[in-house]
Amino acid sequence: MYGLADCNNFFVSCERLFRPDLNGKAVVVLSNNDGCAIARSNEAKALGIKMGQPLYQFSNLVSSGKVTVFSSNFMLYGDISHRVHATLREAVPVIEIYSIDEAFLDLTGIPDDRLDSLGHRLNRMCMRNVGVPVSVGISHTKTLAKVASKLCKQYPRLDGACLMKRPQDIEKVLRKFPVEDVWGIGRRYAARLHLHGVSTAFDFASLPEEWVKARMGLTGLRTWLELHGVPSISFGEDPEPKKQICVSRSFAHEITDKEELYEQLSQFVSMAAEKLRKQGSLASEMDIFLLTNRFKDTDRLYSRNRLERLEPPTSDTFAILKTARYAFEQIYDSRVRFKKAGVTFSGIIPSEGMQMSLFDGGETRDNGKLMSVIDSINRKEGAGSVVFASQGFGGVKMNRGHLSPQYTTKFDDILKIKV
Ligand SMILES: [Mg+2]
Repeated sequence: MYGLADCNNFFVSCERLFRPDLNGKAVVVLSNNDGCAIARSNEAKALGIKMGQPLYQFSNLVSSGKVTVFSSNFMLYGDISHRVHATLREAVPVIEIYSIDEAFLDLTGIPDDRLDSLGHRLNRMCMRNVGVPVSVGISHTKTLAKVASKLCKQYPRLDGACLMKRPQDIEKVLRKFPVEDVWGIGRRYAARLHLHGVSTAFDFASLPEEWVKARMGLTGLRTWLELHGVPSISFGEDPEPKKQICVSRSFAHEITDKEELYEQLSQFVSMAAEKLRKQGSLASEMDIFLLTNRFKDTDRLYSRNRLERLEPPTSDTFAILKTARYAFEQIYDSRVRFKKAGVTFSGIIPSEGMQMSLFDGGETRDNGKLMSVIDSINRKEGAGSVVFASQGFGGVKMNRGHLSPQYTTKFDDILKIKV
């Protein structure tokens, strides 16, 4: 059996941890630069605020005090996420971290009659240890566990945990479960399935196996099998390494100054290089890009990029920044006001594959050690503790007018209590 532990309205729950006065009130967390809603409390959903809705469309609700908004505080969310995962690991030996607020649980070997109480125990542990509400779904496959965890959110009387085991119960649930909400179906397939009269998960599971395989390939077939209770999506502690890594941000204000712009760009490059190392990969290509404001027509639109080969493939920030500087020099234009910059690494290969060529240059090997030291300091002491000179110390220039403190990761931000 498998479980899925999914934190309810996760970013909102993190903000409420330190603002209990906001429990029961409408809360929205905004995307980078305070652009649009990326997390909503149930009360905010009830007010009709949609996922991805731009802030200006509901700013009247904010100014009238009906909704409280927060800028995204990923330092806080990342730390709370670690605590939830650590709590889950205490009770379940093997977990697979799926996203910042979701983890799959391998429940192999746990007697069936204990599964239901385990689900409720996990929910209580997360509430007690971390203070975040978690919905635990348990069933025969990962896909069914996801369905079960969604049920918890729909039906508060389930008390945060739902075991779906008996075939007749599963069928009853799938008959009411919209096909577009099934993990792996996605909006694109859902639209096509609707055309064939398939609107629920049960309809989909009732399609002939060959039909699914012919029209939706192996991925569709896997989802179909999983709905039939046949585990078909592999389970592992390590998610598959990404084949492309991109870091890009819009700036709070347009930037024309060359060095100021490069400072921002080098931060994105450093962040992307750290991601590369974290998944044990090297990149063989790097694409640097600069953009003007897409929503403004006063400036002529300017979007330029430069693709550079990284030879040999590397994850060394020093080597990557050197190439990035060169690429930046080729595409920078002092007459243009820039709104966004970024980097994409591709041609990604595992670093073990490169072991032999490390002996070609001792330099690479030494920097590898230096990089892992820098990464571990930044992990322990907080991102940005050690930076590369070209990044500067200013941080990423984003609009974050509603940012909450970093309660758990920054000494200056620790709550003070008067007694
Ligand atoms: Mg969630």
